[in-house]
Amino acid sequence: MKPPKFDYHAPASVDEALSLLERYGGDAKILAGGQSLVPLLNFRLSRPAALVDLNRIPALAYIRSHDGEVRFGAMTRQRTIEFSPVVAERVPLLTEATRWVGHLPIRSRGTIGGSIAHADPSAEYPAVLRALEGSIVARGPKGERAVAAGDLFRSYLTTSLAADEILVEVRLPAMPAGAGYAFEELARRHGDFALVGIAAVIAREGARCTLARLATSGTGPVPVRLREAEQILERDGLGDAAIEAAGRRASELVEPDADIHASADYRRHLTGVLTTRAIRRAVTKAGHG
Ligand SMILES: Cc1cc2nc3c(=O)[nH]c(=O)nc-3n(C[C@H](O)[C@H](O)[C@H](O)COP(=O)(O)OP(=O)(O)OC[C@H]3O[C@@H](n4cnc5c(N)ncnc54)[C@H](O)[C@@H]3O)c2cc1C
Repeated sequence: MKPPKFDYHAPASVDEALSLLERYGGDAKILAGGQSLVPLLNFRLSRPAALVDLNRIPALAYIRSHDGEVRFGAMTRQRTIEFSPVVAERVPLLTEATRWVGHLPIRSRGTIGGSIAHADPSAEYPAVLRALEGSIVARGPKGERAVAAGDLFRSYLTTSLAADEILVEVRLPAMPAGAGYAFEELARRHGDFALVGIAAVIAREGARCTLARLATSGTGPVPVRLREAEQILERDGLGDAAIEAAGRRASELVEPDADIHASADYRRHLTGVLTTRAIRRAVTKAGHG
């Protein structure tokens, strides 16, 4: 199918993009990499009156280290992130997660801002944002506001961004030096969205766990931070028994839905298996403090 007719605008600045969004009063869609929006248009699941294309705004594409965090312009391509030395050094969890995103042509067009604003519960970037407790910056008619990961994702494909706001920047705290990390997931075919994905970050001093971060994708409407599973590791250490207990707790903490790809029980089971696997791999990579 082809999309219904829409007006097309390619503004040269964020301010111009914002006035276009205001002009259409909620009936315009932002176009970033188009990897999710264009299929929705083609299937006529989305019927905006206009597209506001951000691809001609070079100021929205950058990766910068800033005061203990890495900042990404919303239009930074996933492929740029995959090969960024700054990302590999300061937030290597994101480098690893990016390799799971679709296929090369999708990552060449897809953007970090688009992936997070789209809020597909099976996507990798929202899980990384949640695991690292990063934030985004949204710009709207009243100016800029920062939104923490925990306040951003509301439900399936739904965030707390307003229709007249543009996600302009993603901020991820740099991981502690020497922290181990892993992104584990299972998809039916290479490049498909995950049935379940787990992001893990572990910092250790010997067998003691000084920091654990675990977050999911594919286990319900929004990414879930597995705080009680993290607490098991921080309290009981990084031995086999604690890692297995954390995996079991993780599977109890999620409430996945069933769909044509997998039952809720299978997703719950996968959450436990992949959490255990992700922690083990993160522990192996972690320095000893
Ligand atoms: C075959 C296939 C496989 C895929 N597999 C995966 C996968 O395994 N994992 C994964 O994470 N993704 C996957 N994707 C999706 C891909 O990663 C997309 O790049 C991503 O979901 C959306 O990013 P985009 O830049 O293409 O955004 P678009 O498609 O351009 O936009 C998506 C939505 O976000 C809104 N939006 C975009 N940018 C902004 C902004 N700056 N501010 C506010 N709203 C904005 C748009 O209006 C739209 O509603 C796959 C896509 C395809 C086609």
